[in-house]
Amino acid sequence: MPVIQLEDIRKCYHVSDTQDVHALRGVSLVFEAGEFAAIMGPSGSGKSTLLNVLGGLDRPTSGTYHLDGEEVVALEPDRLAAVRNEKIGFVFQNFNLLSRTTALENIELPMMYNRQGFTLKEIQRRAREGLEMVGLADRASHYPSQLSGGQQQRVAIARALVNRPAVLLADEPSGNLDSRTTLEIMEIFQRLNAQGILIVMVTHEPEIGQYAHRVITMRDGRVCKDVPVAEPFVASREKERLPADTREDASDE
Ligand code: ADP
Repeated sequence: MPVIQLEDIRKCYHVSDTQDVHALRGVSLVFEAGEFAAIMGPSGSGKSTLLNVLGGLDRPTSGTYHLDGEEVVALEPDRLAAVRNEKIGFVFQNFNLLSRTTALENIELPMMYNRQGFTLKEIQRRAREGLEMVGLADRASHYPSQLSGGQQQRVAIARALVNRPAVLLADEPSGNLDSRTTLEIMEIFQRLNAQGILIVMVTHEPEIGQYAHRVITMRDGRVCKDVPVAEPFVASREKERLPADTREDASDE
């Protein structure tokens, strides 16, 4: 069974009595477990709208969306929030961490809302494991403002994964990061993907798309191309080619 199955998804924004914007004009896509897909396309082609629909943040005007076999479009708000919390992890361009909350507490938060009812001890243990997974065990009590952009994004990735979701959705995850830090994020994505999580990432940079295994191109609210990447870039290998002094974290480690 596919993790995600979209059929003829349409999204129309009713802007005014005289203007409707057709952001998605019939998108049908299937994503299996263990895929790493990039969504590309020019500005205004519908990438963010598609990602928001996938994330249950935006309801399509019509069409069906099955996530892990469950039809998402018609869900009651409470059930939708639970599905989002348990099955979907989000990573955004601007990290979206809570600023007055430490790295560790940011990662603990999604577990507080999880209906599985973790004990406080479990929450703390899993949050620490999350920080270790992204190489930030020594930054647990740092606030976001005390972390570099790349470190903040790593915290955001740990937070996105802490409920062990079926899918990780990323909206321009490296849009605010330099090239070395971008490689570090792609390295984490490729490692997670190798462990079996489905990753769907929006990017407008063709080079970033080459770290994925499949590139879906949008145009005018439709999928105009959907192709496998013959030889995806390997982030860990690319990183070795960069000069050492471009390391973002070099000064504080
Ligand atoms: P992309 O992410 O590829 O830049 P978007 O999904 O953001 O594209 O937008 C697709 C189209 O839908 C654009 O024409 C955009 O102006 C329009 N759009 C997006 N969100 C809204 C909204 N909330 N209200 C009205 N129009 C919107």
